[in-house]
Amino acid sequence: MSGLREAHAHIAPHGRALSMILLAQCAGAGDCLEILREAAARRRESPGPDWLLAIGARVEGWKQPGDGPGGWPSLRELDEATGELPCAAMSFDHHMVFANSAALRAGGIDRGTPDPVGGVIGRDEAGVPNGLLLESAAWNTWKLSPEPSAQDRRRHVIDALQDLGSQGFVEVHDMLSQSWLGPLLAELHDGGKLPLSVWLYAPIDEIAGQHEASRSWSRKGDPSRAGTGEVRLAGAKIFIDGTLNSRTAWMLEPYREPLPGMPTGKVITPPDQIESALRTCKGLGIGLAAHAIGDGAVRAGLDAYERLDPYSVASSLAQPIPSFRIEHAEIIDRADTGRFAQLGVLASVQPCHLLCDVEALRRYLPHRLDRVLPLRELIDSGCTPGKLLWFGSDTPIVRPDHQDSVQAAIHRRRGDMTQAESIAWNQRIEEWEAMACYRPVATN
Ligand SMILES: [Zn+2]
Repeated sequence: MSGLREAHAHIAPHGRALSMILLAQCAGAGDCLEILREAAARRRESPGPDWLLAIGARVEGWKQPGDGPGGWPSLRELDEATGELPCAAMSFDHHMVFANSAALRAGGIDRGTPDPVGGVIGRDEAGVPNGLLLESAAWNTWKLSPEPSAQDRRRHVIDALQDLGSQGFVEVHDMLSQSWLGPLLAELHDGGKLPLSVWLYAPIDEIAGQHEASRSWSRKGDPSRAGTGEVRLAGAKIFIDGTLNSRTAWMLEPYREPLPGMPTGKVITPPDQIESALRTCKGLGIGLAAHAIGDGAVRAGLDAYERLDPYSVASSLAQPIPSFRIEHAEIIDRADTGRFAQLGVLASVQPCHLLCDVEALRRYLPHRLDRVLPLRELIDSGCTPGKLLWFGSDTPIVRPDHQDSVQAAIHRRRGDMTQAESIAWNQRIEEWEAMACYRPVATN
């Protein structure tokens, strides 16, 4: 197997996640409690970080749900397992946290605490917080855990690169790069410790500074010396909309169960700002990656790009960096699929998300299921796999195993589902096409 490209990753968070407690394999509340109990015991023996942070719980899929809120264990059981160490367990899609009493106390959450804006504090019948925290309430508590030190994050990056390299990746695109990441990668490169090539995409509001700084940390790959991958600032990153599970992805048609006041989700970057981001990037000679999950956001991105002179944008760039790439593109209207190839816009998608989004898609967008990741249509309209259609995972949101996306792209469902349960079965593609979406563009 020759090397693969992971086109959408978050390197430092991936490395940090490797150090967290993993609940992805739990079959129920009992497993979850057991894993947390053992982790708490280990932590007491050899003290580490002050918080127990767990990720990857897919409570909706547990075969033995617990008696607590939403199928979690009860708060009393969690407290009994974890004691005085603050513990926060995050759901796989990052929208829910189950917290023990020590973590609730650390966040000042008690019976009198109102729900924060954009979030919910779960409560029992008596109004006492039951440990379940949704959306902003989840994040507020999660963020109370201490930020990794410079030494920790260096360790996280090294661990992440090693892990991704061991999974066959030779090129990784980091999709919201911190200003310290480029210099750290350059240092690893110079020490012969960079096992793969990294493309960085910096937040749009930091792009001028990071672009300037990248003059000193860009590195060319050196095929004759192992551990000297390429490091380059490939572009900026913007968010046009929110996410599907939180119903904030920007849709052309209303959700079946919309959030109050947000029938079609949320516009995070309006069209004029998408255009100005494109102009900024063109001026700097770098690309732009736009997060767009809903069909409304995808269309807004394509429209903005079309209003500029796309060919002049593309020719202003160093090859092989794509001038404009749309990240996720989970729902694409029929009128827009052909525009990717027409305009030369890269579709950077993560079919593996289908596997965890099936329930949310059926519930919120039953009328748009036929428009979910129309891979067959994209390819047939000219998005050649590997050239204008790339695959990635968005790790640590889901694990970066490339087989997950390959299987999702060819079967359109999880392994435990029947063919009738597939999402947009007619949009399935062949295995060789899916693999081609992982092949990096030859760089030199
Ligand atoms: Zn991402």
